Formats: sequence, C-alpha cells, structure tokens
Amino acid sequence: MTTILTILIAILGLLIGSFLNVVIYRLPKHESLSTPPSHCTSCRRQLAWYENIPLLSWLVLRGRCRTCGSRISPRYPVIELLTGLLFLATALRFAPDLVGAPTPADAVARGSILIAALWFVAASIALAMIDLDTQTLPNRIIYPSATVIAALYLIAMASGMIGVTSAGAGSAWNGALTALLGALILGVLYLIIAFVSPRGMGMGDVKYAVLIGLTLGWHGWSYIILGVLLPFLIGGIVAAILLVTGRVRRKTGIPFGPSMALGGVAALEWGGTLMSAYLSLWGLA
Ligand SMILES: [Zn+2]
Repeated sequence: MTTILTILIAILGLLIGSFLNVVIYRLPKHESLSTPPSHCTSCRRQLAWYENIPLLSWLVLRGRCRTCGSRISPRYPVIELLTGLLFLATALRFAPDLVGAPTPADAVARGSILIAALWFVAASIALAMIDLDTQTLPNRIIYPSATVIAALYLIAMASGMIGVTSAGAGSAWNGALTALLGALILGVLYLIIAFVSPRGMGMGDVKYAVLIGLTLGWHGWSYIILGVLLPFLIGGIVAAILLVTGRVRRKTGIPFGPSMALGGVAALEWGGTLMSAYLSLWGLA
C-alpha cells in the first residue's frame, strides 16, 4: 500500500512538474496559465497530447519540435524530473505515516500534512526558478500557498482536537503553535536582514521566509532551526563558488530565493535525520 501510494505520488510529481513549467514561464509575464494550450514557442503549433507527456515526450522527440525542428530547452524535462524526484522524497518521508494511520481522523490529519508538504515543494520549485529568471518571488504564488498550507494545518489540528487521533489533542496544538512561531521567527529574521541590507534581500524573500517557517514549524523546533541555517549555508557556498569562478561580480546581486527553496525543502525532507546526525556529531544525542 505504501509502495503504491509512493509511486502514484512520484507520477503526480512528473505531471505537476509539467504544470510548473507553464507557471514558471507564464506567471511572471502575467499570461493565462490555461490559454493558449501548450505550443511550440518557435512555430506556435499546438502540441498533441502525446507530445505533452512529462519527460517521455522530450526524450522520444530528442528535444526537438516535431514540425519545425527547433530545440526544446532541456530545462522542461529537468523541472519535470526534479519535481517527480522531490515528490518521491516527500512520499518516502510522509506516506508511511498516512498508510499507518490507526484511525480515520489520524488519516485525515496525516493526509493534510502530506499534501501541505507536497504543495510546499511544488511552490518552492516554481519560486526558485522564477527568482532565477526574473529576480522576483511573486505574491501570486506565496499568498495562495500560505493560505492552502495554513488551511491544511487547521484541518490536521481540528482532527487532533476532536480527540480521536492516536497522537491526541496535545500534539495537534503543538504542531499548530510551532508552525505559527516558525512563520513569525523566519519572517522577523528576514525583515531585519532586509532593513539592514536592503540591496541583498527584498520583501519577496521576507514573505517566502514566512511560508518556509509556517511549513517547517509544524514538524518541530529542529526543522525551524534548519530552516533558518540551511538557506544561508547554501547561499554562502553558492556565492563563494560564483565569486571565485568569476561568474558574478561582487556588485551584482545573487537571487536568494533558490537557496531558500533548496534549504527549506532539504529541511522538510531530511530535517529529522540531519538534526540527529548533527547532534550526534557533537555527542549530544
Ligand atoms: Zn515548432
């Protein structure tokens, strides 16, 4: 059962990845996400359904349009594969909880947590790519995502509060409280950084930080700590590499969104493992 669910979620990831390509390409240009339907960006011909299968179509067509022969960017299948793999990682982490739920109320709570995690992963991929392309983190992704994830947490909390989940009301309250604190802590931290160095960090980063804190917070304090540390660790390494290899000059900014996405998703998927590994390194656990 867990295996079937995991495979289905990974396939869902490939399909969502295909949709994210549309979001990444069209949302910053304020274009409709549904019309016109998928087409070749070179000859404008509308794609048939079999040219639109995530990953497979690109491989079969060897990255070229069937009519005009122009190259289709490998970025499309890469985003699809990345989304599929991250959905797989999310399923491996959260699906066993859902399948092992002892009561229906538990299943509702754990299903909500799983969907919230998948939503966060998908939103983070879109935000990272759009930030790379346009140096913006659109409100039109962050606001709906925060709303959906908060609503899913309310559902999970309500399932716990009616007292029928095995974990009891206490853990549901706890999750909601740490989620709120996570959002607050990351929001305030990034707000301070944005005030101290307005060139390095924008309000988009602050809002995305709130979303990361909200998502990670449900899972506990170690996740919040990693959500604070990992983006700066990753951002520092990326900046060092780019400066050393001369890819950027010190004056030009490097968008921070991709580092936040990478750090936030890594914390969500492997937070428990990372934290216990770190603590045992210092002989603390
Ligand atoms: Zn074409």
